[in-house]
Parts: sequence; structure tokens; C-alpha cells
Amino acid sequence: MNFDREKELRVQRSRLQEVRSRKARRRSIFIWSAIVCLGIIILINLIFHPLDKYLAHANEPDITVGKENPAQGKENTTQQPTNSLQGDTNKQQQQIQQQTQEGTTQVQEQVSQEDPHPLPLGKLIDNIPTKDNKTVYLTFDDGPNEHTAEIVSILEKNKINASFFWIGEKVTDKMGEFGHQMIEKGNVIGSHTMRHDALGKESGAKQKSDLTQAASLIGNKVGHKVTYMRPPYGSVNAETRKITKELGQYIMFWDVDSLDWSLAHNPEKILTNIKNGNVKPGSIILMHERKQTVEMLPKVIEYLRSQGYNFAALPASPVPEETKTK
Ligand SMILES: [Zn+2]
Repeated sequence: MNFDREKELRVQRSRLQEVRSRKARRRSIFIWSAIVCLGIIILINLIFHPLDKYLAHANEPDITVGKENPAQGKENTTQQPTNSLQGDTNKQQQQIQQQTQEGTTQVQEQVSQEDPHPLPLGKLIDNIPTKDNKTVYLTFDDGPNEHTAEIVSILEKNKINASFFWIGEKVTDKMGEFGHQMIEKGNVIGSHTMRHDALGKESGAKQKSDLTQAASLIGNKVGHKVTYMRPPYGSVNAETRKITKELGQYIMFWDVDSLDWSLAHNPEKILTNIKNGNVKPGSIILMHERKQTVEMLPKVIEYLRSQGYNFAALPASPVPEETKTK
């Protein structure tokens, strides 16, 4: 009897132990899972928090538009600094603000140089300062024509890029293909309207149809979206600003005028005009695709280099927030 009772007790005890050890195992699995989860959360935080900072600063606006109006602008406009312009998304905009408040600095300065610059739509942009304070923008109007290839070749020899504003009706298939190559090499091609008309003298409807047609024609021929527009004669009115804003086209003015178009018989004066033109960091220099310009271009580049400037095409792909989703 006693023996049986003892045996039964032992069996019961061993069952009890088994149950306990099972519970203990479950508990330890739960604890370890919790620890692993916590570890993963910490890791994710470590990885993504700096990345968030990086992303936020990559889109931080770092451009201010100059206050001076271009000499040939037809209207008086006070230009605003562009600090509060388009970030990438609302969320990132918030992050930018947060990061700015936190006062982090070092990473953003390295990043923002290479990123698309937020520029103001509907305003006359005549200067694009960069953080290095040494960049100027050569721009050539009225092409494409027989001088385009020569200009591109001079730019290539000097290992620099520039921006071109083409007249829609002049862009043949052949020039479109050439333009495509120019863009692939880092240059920018914008619109100079369809027929070089003074926009400021036209009705809103006519301007809209002209600017839409020019951007789509040039864009199709060169195989890249056209987001920059230079108004012929610098002629704009309130409608131009409203329409370009709607169309997502930046109005590109200039703050240094070489007057090259008028100097066929006095090419040296092109260089003089630039020397006397108050070139400053971020200057947009107005030139044209002309014979005398080709002649003087190497000297212009050499002079600006001697003054410590380097060259860039207009910021690539500055697609404004408003047009991204369309
Ligand atoms: Zn022109």
C-alpha cells in the first residue's frame, strides 16, 4: 500500500515538475522574444534616425534669390527670399523645420550642394547663390543654330556646363537629338518661347498657349522635361508669372548682361561688359548663340576663372512640388 502511494506521489511530483519546467520554458521564450524585439527596435532607430536627418537636409532649401531686378525687366518686382519653399513632401518639410530647430549643421552642408535646388515659381530669378559662393551660370539664348555645336565644344574643352534657352520653332529633329546629348552631358535646355515674342505684350491666353507649346515641343525633341523659361526681351507681365507658375516653369532672368547680340563688330566689348557687370556669386550671365559670342567665350571663361568662379548649369530637375503629382 505504502509503496503504491509513494509511487503515485512520485509520479505526481514528476508531472508537477514537468508542468513547471514547461511554464519556465514558455516564460523564458517570452522574455527572450521581448529582448530580441527591443533590440530590433533600438537597431531600427539607430539606422533610420540619422537617415531621416540625411533625407531632411538633402531637401533643405539653401537658395535665396537676389533682391536686385534685372536691368531690362519691364516691371518692378520685389523678390522674396525663398527659404520657405518647396521641400519634398509635407512630412519632409516638417522634418526640415524640426532639424533646423535642433540646429544640426554639418551633414546638411555636404548634402545640399548636389540636390535639386528649390526655386521660386512665378518670380523673376536673376541670381542663384550657392553655399560655396563661387558658382556662376552661363546662359545662351536664341538657339539652336549653327553656333550651338561650337559653344558646346568650348564648354567641353573647359569641362564646364551651361544653360541654353531655345526658340521652339527652331528646334529641328536633328537639333533635338543634339540637345538630348547636351543634356546627357550635364547642360540644361529651357524654353525661349515658340517664336521669340514679347510675352509681356500678349494676352494671358496667348502666353499660355505659347509657353505650353514651346515646353512640350522642346521637351519632346530633346527628350527631357523643360522647366526653365527665359522671356524674350525680358518682357513679362502679371499673367506671365501666373501662367508659368501654373505650368511649373521657372522664369529665368539674369543679373549680368554681356550685350553680346549687339557686338558683332566689337566682340572684345563682350568681355568688358562682363568685367564691368558686377559679377557676383550666383550670377546668371546673359549671352546668345552668336558668332561673336563663340569668339569671346574662351576669354570670358578664363576671366571668370581668374576671379575664382566656377560654372554650373542651372540646378537640375527642379520640379516644383505643385507639378510633381500632375
Ligand atoms: Zn532672345
